Amino acid sequence: MNTTARTDAHASDLASRFEETFGAAPDGVWAAPGRVNLIGEHTDYNEGFVLPFAIDKRATTAIRPRGDSTIRLLSTAGAEGIVAADTAALVPGAVTGWAKYPLGVVWALQQRGIDVPGFDLLLHSDVPPGAGLSSSHAIECAVVTALNELTGAGLTAEEMVTLTQHAENAFVGAPTGIMDQSASLRGAGGHAVFLDCRDQTVQLVPFEAQDTGLVLLVIDTKVAHSHSDGGYASRRASCELGAAALGVKALRDVAVADLEAAGGRLDPVTFRRVRHIVTENDRVLQVVDTLRSQGPARIGPLLDASHASMRDDFEISCPELDLAVDTARSHGAIGARMTGGGFGGSAIALTPVGREQQVRDAVVRAFTQAGFTSPDIFTVTPAAGAERIR
Ligand code: ADP
Ligand code: MG
Repeated sequence: MNTTARTDAHASDLASRFEETFGAAPDGVWAAPGRVNLIGEHTDYNEGFVLPFAIDKRATTAIRPRGDSTIRLLSTAGAEGIVAADTAALVPGAVTGWAKYPLGVVWALQQRGIDVPGFDLLLHSDVPPGAGLSSSHAIECAVVTALNELTGAGLTAEEMVTLTQHAENAFVGAPTGIMDQSASLRGAGGHAVFLDCRDQTVQLVPFEAQDTGLVLLVIDTKVAHSHSDGGYASRRASCELGAAALGVKALRDVAVADLEAAGGRLDPVTFRRVRHIVTENDRVLQVVDTLRSQGPARIGPLLDASHASMRDDFEISCPELDLAVDTARSHGAIGARMTGGGFGGSAIALTPVGREQQVRDAVVRAFTQAGFTSPDIFTVTPAAGAERIR
């Protein structure tokens, strides 16, 4: 079955399940992907560069507006059953469980003065939660794409990015940036999304690993990452401190050539945090250039350097991520790094097709020997951004 046929079958299956659950057919079905960040970690809130791509795993929502102010939400994954809410009574920080993601989008639309009717929603997602692939943004982006159309709000992709960021920051309570939504809303098949986080400009950069005999493996370490345990906040604080000490608006404004002089003006820890951001921004630009001029087969050393920088300078890796990266590299991957915010989540390994099984087996074996939980390993390819599929 080709991709289009699979999408059609999936959309009609979800529409049937919606009708069985809510008693009437949905008005439409909208899908939005998770994302993997190829390179550019923690550069987003330093007004720098990131290079994520939308993946071939996504959240799909079937929706039907109702005649009243009631919202009913059901996930095919959920033990929670149907969650009900009222459009007139959405309070930031008060919703627990997965409903905070769709309801956060409704609330953020209301904050923009957009009137959202009550609706029924059925969600199905194959983006694994908590693996650093942004399953939460996949839900938010599917919902905002649907409601933008159903309410006739006419928001642009850039506006939907800002709106879902507001939903995550103010309603859900997660201090996240704009990378994940930008990939999910603005991604395209066969391309990575080169995003300038200072002004939200996007350039699509060809990233067709398969054409050069490569696969991108995701190794989900199963180590839970959390924004709430202070690691993320303390890295942000170090970056702000560094920018202030160097007299720049954001670390984006520091060049690699300025680093040596910066060393004398910062304490050792802040200096290493700054050095990660400055060199990582530079690596993103180099990966973009390399993809355009030579293709994916040449980006391996930049992925490796990114991992070393996060492990040694930014100190956001963990033993499981380091083992995944080192093992993948020593068994045939041409480049590997942790991806996402750090402290757990997933690593990526760019691997020749002929070495894929060898890398998978070696990583599983190394995890067993180390006494770690067995990782999930799967391939991802750059796929379409959010869209209506029925
Ligand atoms: P990430 O976005 O990195 O996957 P988060 O903690 O931000 O991790 O989001 C994970 C949360 O998203 C889950 O705890 C759950 O609330 C929600 N979620 C993800 N997938 C689903 C799903 N299929 N059904 C219901 N909720 C989901
Ligand atoms: Mg998330």
